[in-house]
Amino acid sequence: MNNDNIDTSWMADAACKGQTAIFYPEVGGTTDAARAICAECPVSHKCFSYSARTEERHGVWAGQLLSDRAIPRPKYVRPIEPIKHGTSGGYLAHKNRATA
Ligand code: SF4
Repeated sequence: MNNDNIDTSWMADAACKGQTAIFYPEVGGTTDAARAICAECPVSHKCFSYSARTEERHGVWAGQLLSDRAIPRPKYVRPIEPIKHGTSGGYLAHKNRATA
């Protein structure tokens, strides 16, 4: 995904500015401190939108450890079988009968 056109100006007001380590905990590490900061963050809604649009996969964003986030997957769509038609001549005959 090209993230060049996504607004990042809200990051200047982020409560986590300069505190990256606690937002990227080791596997099994706590996220409590990061989540507490997010709870007070004035731009958490923009942070959430940004993380969703940029499909962030790591770290705490808007109070969520992204590995916790249920990522919507496209539903399986069964391929549509092409309808088997008769001959084009038969179709034209049918069409002409319908309009006559
Ligand atoms: S919501 Fe949390 S991760 Fe997002 S900008 Fe604010 S403090 Fe940082």
